[in-house]
Amino acid sequence: MKIKSTADGSTWFYCPICGRKLFKVIRHTQCRDFPAWCRGCKREILVNIDGQTIFAAASAQAGVS
Ligand SMILES: [Zn+2]
Repeated sequence: MKIKSTADGSTWFYCPICGRKLFKVIRHTQCRDFPAWCRGCKREILVNIDGQTIFAAASAQAGVS
């Protein structure tokens, strides 16, 4: 589960690796190849968001800082 809605109706993107809350997603959020840095597992996660479709993958540079 990569996104989750909280009680107040906002939606958050969670790290697919460690489950840490990373950033908020609103209704029309769009991003392409956004490198989200997770401080929990110290990895970069490439995030693609287009409307309701969210795709995330560990970056090829994962673990390199
Ligand atoms: Zn993580």
